[in-house]
Amino acid sequence: MKILRNRAFRWILLMLGLSAIIALTGMNVLSLYDLRDRMVESEEERRIDQLDEINDTIRNQILEPLRGLYRIELEPIESSLQQTGQLPENIQDVLTRSSKSPFFNSIYFTPENVDPCNPDNSIYRFDPENQQITPTNDFPDLVCDGVGLARTKTKIQLNDFNYRWNNNFEFDTHRSLNIGLINLSESRMIGYITLTLNEDYIVNEVLPPILTNYFGKSEETGIVVWVRDWTNNRVLATNDTNIEYDRNLRDHVMGFSGSGFFDNWSLNLAFLDAPVTNAYNETLIKNLIVLGVAVLFLLGALIFMFVTAQRERHLAQRQASFLANVTHELKTPLAVMQAAGENISDGRVTEPKRLKQYGEHIYNESIRLRSMIEKLLDVARVDSGQNMIKAAPYSIHNLMNKFLNENREYIENKGFEVKFKSSAEDALCMIDSDSFETIVHNLTENAIKYSKDEKCIEYQISSNKDNVFFSISDHGMGIPKKEQKNIFKKFYRVDDSDSKSTKIKGHGLGLSIVRNMVSLNGGKIEVKSSSGKGTTFIVRFPKLNKDDVSKEQLQNIQTGSSPTENLNKHTKYVG
Ligand code: ADP
Repeated sequence: MKILRNRAFRWILLMLGLSAIIALTGMNVLSLYDLRDRMVESEEERRIDQLDEINDTIRNQILEPLRGLYRIELEPIESSLQQTGQLPENIQDVLTRSSKSPFFNSIYFTPENVDPCNPDNSIYRFDPENQQITPTNDFPDLVCDGVGLARTKTKIQLNDFNYRWNNNFEFDTHRSLNIGLINLSESRMIGYITLTLNEDYIVNEVLPPILTNYFGKSEETGIVVWVRDWTNNRVLATNDTNIEYDRNLRDHVMGFSGSGFFDNWSLNLAFLDAPVTNAYNETLIKNLIVLGVAVLFLLGALIFMFVTAQRERHLAQRQASFLANVTHELKTPLAVMQAAGENISDGRVTEPKRLKQYGEHIYNESIRLRSMIEKLLDVARVDSGQNMIKAAPYSIHNLMNKFLNENREYIENKGFEVKFKSSAEDALCMIDSDSFETIVHNLTENAIKYSKDEKCIEYQISSNKDNVFFSISDHGMGIPKKEQKNIFKKFYRVDDSDSKSTKIKGHGLGLSIVRNMVSLNGGKIEVKSSSGKGTTFIVRFPKLNKDDVSKEQLQNIQTGSSPTENLNKHTKYVG
């Protein structure tokens, strides 16, 4: 009951652990996607903000030479014009500065009382060479438009009592910049400065570098930006001439007019799917891979720990039952020997026939005890890694023959027929003869133990280019398929609950010792068995090349003399 409870508890813990890992992974994946989206979004917002920056930069560059105009007293303009026909010096300076700016083509001054829309009227044109204004009738129509715009807009401003500036800037789209000059004390207009804008310079010299500067090449940044004259449906500048402006492609649009100029120009932006999101997708994929690997490690560690714990528990269970068994097994022959010895030493048994019987009892039990102790010692040696292998070139055929000569009678006395077939008389292997004997002995013991009605054991030896094989087959009860992978484990016994009454004695050590000895000698063991039909254990050792064996050794092996005595042994310690 307690074991069951513990087992259920362990499974519940495993499930909880797995669920926690899955939940955490799920959460992490979601938040990684969320993070990617946010990063893309904030990157897009940052880029949109850059459009404003472009607007401001161009506007500042245009207005640069006019900076400080608000600090100049404008009232003296009219008297200066009347007296000298020129503007006051400080205003001439502003105009000189402006005339040097590549943004402007020409500069005009229109007094408030002159209507520039009448071509007969003359206004003033600023001459950059003389740095003076000269009256002119030759001025473009856009002066009329610009002055009209500035007049209307500035008058509206003047109606607002809070307006405290002595001038007012108005852009007539991208054609001109018009400055209304105000006599603040009398709250009336003095005149207008019109600066005609150099569209070619802005379109060809200013916009392309600034766009590339902010947005790079579209194939690298994944962003295309166009400056478009929407009234004429014309792209003025772009950072990628290969991609045509398309309303459906664009993700964001803003007018230059947002900053109060170039009403009919707009800044358009498109985020191509590729690099912007790709960059973040790459980060996302990297993060997902790292997460995946970490989760795999975590799952691996969890499952490994669970499986190891299960294994250790099974081993502990098997060890506990082994200990109980062993104690019983050791006590039984001792008790028999003790009783028999006591009877003889007391002088209670004197009859020769009974004395012989008692002697046989003591002898048999001592043999049983010895084999038990030897097995335990073998296991202890394997466990402590102190197994000593004395490898020498041996013919498996000869070794098997020797074993059968010594044990045939014992096996036949148990009612078994012994068959021996060999097709590899000459094949040699580098093995330890003691190990070989232990292996064959244990397999034979098992064949005897686990056979019921058909009592026959077959020993076969064969070889191929690389290996020598020997097999030991019986026609006994066989081993169920699902148990076959376990029988070599220490303390493992097939649970033959079907035949409990005739439970065969054993400790689950024989095959573990066998497998260990086989592998210490460089070989492999496998089992072929089917329930109720019989079992075959096949052992394979690497074949020794005859050229590697000295003539003397070869002769000894072929004449069948014991190689153990005659050959120089290659001793190796395995640990
Ligand atoms: P033991 O025989 O002491 O139980 P072993 O390690 O020799 O321990 O064998 C492990 C298990 O393998 C045995 O309990 C038995 O069920 C099964 N087994 C081994 N050899 C045979 C065989 N020749 N026929 C059927 N079952 C076998």
